[in-house]
Amino acid sequence: MTALSKALFARIEQTGPISVAEYMAECLLNPNHGYYTTRDPLGVAGDFTTAPEISQMFGELIGLAMAQAWLDQGAPASFTLAELGPGRGTLMADILRATKGVAGFHAAMDIWLVEASAVLQTAQGRALKGYEAHWAGMVSDLPDAPLFLIANEFFDALPIRQFIRTGAGWSERLVGVTDQVLTFGLGPPGPVTALQHRLEDTREGDLVEICPQGTAILSDVTDRISTHGGAALLVDYGDWRSLGDTFQALAGHAHTDPLAEPGNADLTAHVDFEALAMVAAPLTPSRLTPQGVFLERLGISDRARALATRLESSALEAHIAAHRRLTHRSEMGTLFKVLGLTPEGAPPIAGTIHDT
Ligand code: SAH
Repeated sequence: MTALSKALFARIEQTGPISVAEYMAECLLNPNHGYYTTRDPLGVAGDFTTAPEISQMFGELIGLAMAQAWLDQGAPASFTLAELGPGRGTLMADILRATKGVAGFHAAMDIWLVEASAVLQTAQGRALKGYEAHWAGMVSDLPDAPLFLIANEFFDALPIRQFIRTGAGWSERLVGVTDQVLTFGLGPPGPVTALQHRLEDTREGDLVEICPQGTAILSDVTDRISTHGGAALLVDYGDWRSLGDTFQALAGHAHTDPLAEPGNADLTAHVDFEALAMVAAPLTPSRLTPQGVFLERLGISDRARALATRLESSALEAHIAAHRRLTHRSEMGTLFKVLGLTPEGAPPIAGTIHDT
């Protein structure tokens, strides 16, 4: 039994079953036993790999798209370049290398990393050696300035609540203890204001998810961009509208039972991009774009060919495999989606398009 299991058992015994969101928050960010607070989970030796860790091309192209967004908005002389949940700092390092040649961009930027884990903050500091970066625990700590923000696989790590439709109401899925084992159960049925609009497209027995922390964070980002200008680029797995149970656990690159080893597995859920786009008003959301399409529009195949000329044997094979992994529909190309958010009247972020 993990130390966190013991703490959760005690808590549930004292105050009753907890929501999936409370369970997720404890497992991921408990100060002493949380998954992100106690380790660097990324890479081959870790539990999962992300797009920036697969190839430098991902961050380079995103960097150029963000620099273009900055130019499109009149190249403000001072702006915040922020990333939410930067992992090992690889994406930001690739963005910075790729944008070095964009006249004025580095001189105008102020780098901010929103990161909850001290272990990962240290890794990010190492990756960004030579740059002056600042860390914030929350978006509300960012300075008041135009905000150009990226988030890759951040929103999927935020706690979700799950509800099962019961007649005209909803029962929340809860985590309790049965026979000394963590188990799922259901709370009493009742109305849920945030799910009123889902009564239209769901039936009894359907499960839907909401991510209150995700919408709160994006609402804060939205306020800043609509006040000061800027743009946000969100990349994650998920779909336009959530339906069904997407709560999952990964350990050692394999799926496991999310209740089996609290604190030792990565817990995520698919992102409901419609819910994010809804709180992003008055910003203009781009069309939700598959990652493969987004990267192809930004010229990943040309960049891949250019890099390939310098590689041979196993390095070349790995490079070709990485290109495929990022873009192919049977890999990350379709499952992962990109949502761009820009102020009214500003052009869409390169690689995305606006609905006409
Ligand atoms: N973007 C990185 C890492 C994704 S993993 C990549 O693509 O490789 C999720 C990241 O979000 C980690 O850095 C984790 O520590 C951070 N994180 C999770 N919940 C957070 C929260 N509530 N506030 C700030 N950072 C958080």
